[in-house]
Amino acid sequence: MTNALTEIAEKLKLTIEAAERRGRKDLKSLATVPALLSYLREMSGDEVLLLIDHARKINKRRNPRIKAINSDFYDVESLLKPEERAILQEVRDIMKAEVAPIVTDYWMRGEFPRQIIDTFRKLDICGLTYDGVGGKKGSHLLEGMVGEEIARTDVSTCTFFGVHSQLAMGSIYLCGSEEQKAEFLPKMQRLDLIGAFALTEPNVGSAASLGLETTCRREGDDWVISGEKKWIGNGTFADVIIVWAKDVDDDQVKGFIVDRLTDGLVTEKIEDKMALRIVQNALIQFKDVRVPESRRLQNANNFKDTSAVLRMTRAGVAWQAVGCARGAYEHVLQYTMERKQFDRPIAGFQLVQDMLAQMLSQVTAMQATVTRLSQLQDRGEMTDERASLAKVFCTVSCRQITSMARELMGGNGILISNQVARYLGDAEALYSYEGTKQINSLILGRAITGWSAFV
Ligand SMILES: Cc1cc2nc3c(=O)[nH]c(=O)nc-3n(C[C@H](O)[C@H](O)[C@H](O)COP(=O)(O)OP(=O)(O)OC[C@H]3O[C@@H](n4cnc5c(N)ncnc54)[C@H](O)[C@@H]3O)c2cc1C
Repeated sequence: MTNALTEIAEKLKLTIEAAERRGRKDLKSLATVPALLSYLREMSGDEVLLLIDHARKINKRRNPRIKAINSDFYDVESLLKPEERAILQEVRDIMKAEVAPIVTDYWMRGEFPRQIIDTFRKLDICGLTYDGVGGKKGSHLLEGMVGEEIARTDVSTCTFFGVHSQLAMGSIYLCGSEEQKAEFLPKMQRLDLIGAFALTEPNVGSAASLGLETTCRREGDDWVISGEKKWIGNGTFADVIIVWAKDVDDDQVKGFIVDRLTDGLVTEKIEDKMALRIVQNALIQFKDVRVPESRRLQNANNFKDTSAVLRMTRAGVAWQAVGCARGAYEHVLQYTMERKQFDRPIAGFQLVQDMLAQMLSQVTAMQATVTRLSQLQDRGEMTDERASLAKVFCTVSCRQITSMARELMGGNGILISNQVARYLGDAEALYSYEGTKQINSLILGRAITGWSAFV
């Protein structure tokens, strides 16, 4: 209790000194301070605690500086239907309750919290926009905002979800036969089967459309897959992996639904990442892996079909970048309200406010971009270049915003336990996956000028 009293006395003393330094000698409170201090000394410990609690509540009510932090400044969420808002709120609540408290620890250790599979099962939001698949349903706008909301808490968690629900389920939804959809999608929707998506290779990243080295070869009723894949999210524990390989006979890219436990398929976790440490990215070797024709995606005949999946998921990555930027901004805003230098919260300094204003402006521009993109997607009007513009703009902005957030925390900004550094690292992965900045800019450049400048 002595501590609480000392704390109050100390705060009062500092307040008086600061007020005096600013020439505020007329403060009424100054005259009453000695009386107040002697009164406090006579109070019991519990009374002092009650007083502090009460003062905090009054302060919260009266001080216009202390507001609920919400970076949806233009209220884009209000564009959702009421039932969609309810789904989004459920996601927000569960992220706060079940994911936020554990992510720092798992991120530091580079491990995947298996319990979040149950969290997503409860939410029932896999395949939100897919017809004929169970679970909750909604627009592409809702799907985008759900991704944003998850990433706002943790980008790795969102990547796990995006790889499963969009890349893996999306490949089967867009490229699978009716039988394949019926066999896999309901189980994946319930997360009874977890999916991964294997396109990138150690030697082939950006150039996947032209030069996959992993091959497939038809042998009777089977296909034989040989080669290596790199960076495959969920790759160490997924039940099924969507594998893209070049057919040695017709040189076209084909897709396969491969059981991870098939003979000849060997996964190795990539350990030394400085981003998305919760995501289990794998290096996968395919040593003459045999897959029946029934597991070849029946409607994936060339890379254009793979691109249709990537177009959809690129929009999702743009939304993730908005969530990542919002998470970093909100954490740092809170920090600037609490961190004091020169006797006042740093949020009160002009240069700090300039950065906060810049961050919020950029977040708002990002939100407006992805919101419109999803509206176009809902109308069936999302093109490759429209998705690429959003992916480039949002991931570039996300990198800038997370960097500013770190800067505003001073030295504390590099400590993972202070949250912002995690977003800063994760922004680097968003910037590079699903098409780097350069590749998406080239897609856009081709649309603007009519010239293809890839090679
Ligand atoms: C965390 C993480 C998770 C991932 N998850 C998956 C996954 O689940 N499944 C999957 O298949 N892949 C995944 N990837 C792979 C990702 O999609 C690739 O990293 C990305 O496509 C870039 O390929 P690359 O890393 O090989 O870079 P490279 O293609 O080697 O590019 C290196 C640099 O060269 C530039 N460059 C290349 N070509 C050109 C050009 N023509 N003009 C100008 N510049 C050029 C690039 O922009 C980049 O800056 C993941 C990657 C990361 C980092």
